[in-house]
Amino acid sequence: MDNITALGGDVYEIDTKMAGYTGITAGYLILSDRPCLVETGTSTSAPVVRDAIASLGVGPEDLATVVVTHIHLDHAGGVGDIARFFPSAQVVVHEKGARHLAEPSRLMASARMVWGDKLDTLFGELSPTEQERIVALGDTGAIDLGNGRTLSSHYSPGHAKHHVGLVDSTTGDLYVGDAAGVYLPETGDLRPATPPPDFDLKTALDSIALFGALGPQRLLFSHYGPVDAVQETLERSAEELRVWVDLTRQARSEGMDLDHAVAMVRDRTKERYSALTSDDGTAEQFELLSGAPSNVAGILHWLDRVSP
Ligand SMILES: [Zn+2]
Repeated sequence: MDNITALGGDVYEIDTKMAGYTGITAGYLILSDRPCLVETGTSTSAPVVRDAIASLGVGPEDLATVVVTHIHLDHAGGVGDIARFFPSAQVVVHEKGARHLAEPSRLMASARMVWGDKLDTLFGELSPTEQERIVALGDTGAIDLGNGRTLSSHYSPGHAKHHVGLVDSTTGDLYVGDAAGVYLPETGDLRPATPPPDFDLKTALDSIALFGALGPQRLLFSHYGPVDAVQETLERSAEELRVWVDLTRQARSEGMDLDHAVAMVRDRTKERYSALTSDDGTAEQFELLSGAPSNVAGILHWLDRVSP
C-alpha cells in the first residue's frame, strides 16, 4: 500500500491520512512476535490504519498491543475503533489518560468546545474501550513485544499531562509523540506544540532532556516520520520552546490581546521555518497541528497560571 513505509527493524510507518491529508499524522506498526501499533490516528482514520495493518499480514486476532503517546484525538481518536477491529489487543496509555479512553464523553465535549464543527471532519468521534482491556502506565512501564523485545514507556508531560515517550529495546527508536514538537520532513522545520490547557515550559524542557538522556538511536515523530539526528533535533526542540515562550511573554507584558499576540509571534517566528516562506502548501500542516493561535493560547494559559 502506498501509505506504508518500511523503516527497518520490522518497524512500519503508516500514513493515517488524517482528514484526507497525506504526511500529517503517522501511526507505527512494530511487527515483532507480539505486534504493536503505536498511535491509532483519528477515528475517521481507523479504517485506513486497519487496512494497512492487515496488508502487513496481521490478522484481527494477531495485534497484541495498541499504545498511544497521549490521548489527543489525532493520536488516540481511533483507539475504540481499532480495539473493535483487533479484539485481542490490549490498549496501553498513561494513567492520566486511561479513564478518558474508557469513558470519552468529557474529552469529546471539551474537544468540541475547542474545534466546533471542524471536529467531525478533522477527528470524528472517539468511541469507548472496555475498561478491562486498558492497561494504565505510571512514570515508567514496559510493553512486551515478544522474543525478549520490549517497548519501555517514560512519562513526559509538558505538551500534555498524559504524555509518554516509548523506547524500542531492539532498534533504539524513541516514539516522541508531540513532546518534541512537530517536524516537517519536507523542509526539516521543527515547531513547538504548546496547546492549552496542559502546556508547562519547565516540564516540557525536562521531558526533552529526559529523551536525550535515554540515548535513543532515532526519533519517530507522530507528525511526521523518522529523524536520525537525535541530539541536534532535541536541542532544536528546546530552543523552539524558549523562542515561542519569550515572544509570547513579551506580547503579554505589552498588554496585547490573544489575536495581536498571535499575529506578533507568527510574524517574529516566520523566518525560522522555510515552510512558511515557500508556498508549496506544507505550511498548512503547521496550522493544523501546531497552529500559532493554539501555541500562543497554550503559553498564555501557562503564564496566567504561574505569574498571574
Ligand atoms: Zn498531535
